[in-house]
Amino acid sequence: HKYHLEHIKFQDLDQRIGGTPDDPQQIILGQGAFGRVLIVRHKSTKETYALKCLNKEQIVENGLEQHVVDERKVMTMIDHPFLLKLHKSFWDKKYVYLLLELCLGGELFTFLRKAGRFTEKASRFYAAIVTRAFEHMHDKHIIYRDLKPENLLLDTDNNLKISDFGLSAFSLSQSAEEHTPVAQLLHTTCGTPNYVAPEVLADRGYDGKAA
Ligand code: ATP
Ligand code: MG
Repeated sequence: HKYHLEHIKFQDLDQRIGGTPDDPQQIILGQGAFGRVLIVRHKSTKETYALKCLNKEQIVENGLEQHVVDERKVMTMIDHPFLLKLHKSFWDKKYVYLLLELCLGGELFTFLRKAGRFTEKASRFYAAIVTRAFEHMHDKHIIYRDLKPENLLLDTDNNLKISDFGLSAFSLSQSAEEHTPVAQLLHTTCGTPNYVAPEVLADRGYDGKAA
């Protein structure tokens, strides 16, 4: 298959708390750009997960196939307590599914909005977590380009997890994988306007190392 995803049937996730992505009875955790994030429960293990459903038609219409491939690739490469874990990925006719670690504590954004501003102590704590998580990604030459409080999720134990790897990129050229990978500077300006990093706006190329 084009996306090289492992194919397991949506029905394997039966006993789900939600429904199919088109079912109005489903429990929706969030609405993404290309589909919903639902709560699901595994039939046999009874483990609960977040299922991110990406509408293939909308992805293709917007020419963002590579983003989905990269999002999945990045998530299979990372393994860190401060980064949202991908358990499995699969697809059917209409959707690509990412079976994710469930974070029922909501977005840090909500807490920030309620609090107005965080104390210096809280800010330091969250910044330290983000820094550690970034170190892990940079070790693997992954550049995360969408840092914002909306993408920092909390689980039920209040652990912070970076989510949403759709805009991530690699600072080693991918085409050279079999040979010697070549370090490359990225030039794409992307992210969320209010949160774009200075080195991205400076337009001199960036590679995730401190500017
Ligand atoms: P956008 O591009 O609009 O940010 P997206 O398509 O990249 O959206 P996500 O940001 O991954 O989608 O998910 C959309 C929303 O669903 C999140 O903002 C969050 O509220 C919720 N969500 C995503 N993943 C999880 C999860 N693992 N546990 C709980 N809620 C989640
Ligand atoms: Mg998002």
